Amino acid sequence: MQRSPRLRPTTAVNLAVCRSRLPPEAVDYVAEVLAQQPVEVRLSRPRRTRLGDHRSPGQGVLFHRITVNEDLNPYAFLTTLLHEVAHAVTWERHRRIGRRIAPHGREWKDEFGNILRPVVAAKILPAVVEAALARYLENPAARSCSDRGLVLALAEFDDQPAGRMRVEDLTENAVFRAANGTVFRAGPMMRSRRRCFRIPGGCEYRVHGLLLVEPVSAAVRGRGRRI
Ligand SMILES: [Zn+2]
Repeated sequence: MQRSPRLRPTTAVNLAVCRSRLPPEAVDYVAEVLAQQPVEVRLSRPRRTRLGDHRSPGQGVLFHRITVNEDLNPYAFLTTLLHEVAHAVTWERHRRIGRRIAPHGREWKDEFGNILRPVVAAKILPAVVEAALARYLENPAARSCSDRGLVLALAEFDDQPAGRMRVEDLTENAVFRAANGTVFRAGPMMRSRRRCFRIPGGCEYRVHGLLLVEPVSAAVRGRGRRI
């Protein structure tokens, strides 16, 4: 029996797969990026050795296949998805016409930079992630898959470890310590950020609600919500 060729999924299908994993603010941009590439996006069970993976067209499949681990936090998911899309774009530009290139060579770095730059410029990401991505973009020579600053910034948004809470789950006026040791008092929530006041001094900072911090005073709002 002859196997029928696999159809390239539409952008709508790809988005249906990954929409719930992405930061909501980035969905429109991801839709734009996916619409320009013949790709299929799938979720993968968590893999310890890799966050995502890309396979180029071949063996009867006419489109690129991308998988991303399903357990990544939204910012790690977004970055990994765009990393893999950059492989597809680079393949189309170079490998399709027979050029030899290194998997994470200059060509891939350029494409990843092009795809990532609008996300950073849009100011939709938490400051810690945005700053790490901006540093990453400024210095292409140092760009690699395992950029330490980027990995640490993205890990800030992983499921909460014992003794840490998300800023949005603190009660108002709760005192907390950020990862760099600075102490703040939690003020009112805004849309995705929270007004926080440095102790001592009272300077105001807008801190992303998903950031994990260490509560210093009793602070639980009692919702026990996890993202
Ligand atoms: Zn890669």
